[in-house]
Amino acid sequence: MAKKQRAKLVVGNWKMNGSIAENDTLLNGLVQRAATLESRVLLGVCVPYPYLAQVQMQLTGTPIAYGVQDVSAYTHGAYTGDVSARMVAEFGVTLAIVGHSERRTLHTESSKLVAAKAQRALEANIIPIVCVGETLDERRAGQTNTVIHAQLTAVLDTLDKDHVARLIVAYEPVWAIGTGQSATAQQAQQVHAVLRKQLTTRGGIRVPLLYGGSVKPDNAEELFSQVDIDGGLIGGASLSEIDFLAISAGSL
Ligand code: PEP
Repeated sequence: MAKKQRAKLVVGNWKMNGSIAENDTLLNGLVQRAATLESRVLLGVCVPYPYLAQVQMQLTGTPIAYGVQDVSAYTHGAYTGDVSARMVAEFGVTLAIVGHSERRTLHTESSKLVAAKAQRALEANIIPIVCVGETLDERRAGQTNTVIHAQLTAVLDTLDKDHVARLIVAYEPVWAIGTGQSATAQQAQQVHAVLRKQLTTRGGIRVPLLYGGSVKPDNAEELFSQVDIDGGLIGGASLSEIDFLAISAGSL
């Protein structure tokens, strides 16, 4: 009997892009065509906070999940500008990216802070997509495995076993994000295998591992066919309905 294939997960990260009119067109297109993707691919979009009411209205009752790109490390209180996991959960959010390299770099977020954010998300019943990845200098210095291992360790040391079992982890090499230079399928698989081993040892179950970094329609199929790649986190290409759906189709 043929082995049942696990559903792939493809999540868009809109970053700081969009407008109510543009989102409307993109979301309508996704909803209309998502049905053609069969049930073996699950789609999600992570949007800027001001668009949560819009995605809630347009995606509730559809198979497309939605989420945010960050949550506060705190539950509530005097943290001006922060948005808590509990607040976004009120909009039906089920996913939250935490530890994206743009936040680690531009907002100097430490792995410890990222771990606290993952914990706050889980407490609000939101699945954190924990991003890890090395810089080009770190890769060239042969430090890739050490760097991603340490980034993930900070999260695993903070969460209890039940919470670890609900994580999604995204390997996003910093040098591949928004550069047009994706990791090769072999490079990505090699790192995913390291993450898989670390997670299996700590959590005991198969946590979904996404690859992110310049995924495009022409490289998605090869990346997603790797044994430890369970889907993708898609930045720039998720803003085009055609590209996002073509990438998702590549995961079938
Ligand atoms: C991202 O921002 O998470 C990302 C993967 O970006 P891009 O696909 O544009 O490289």
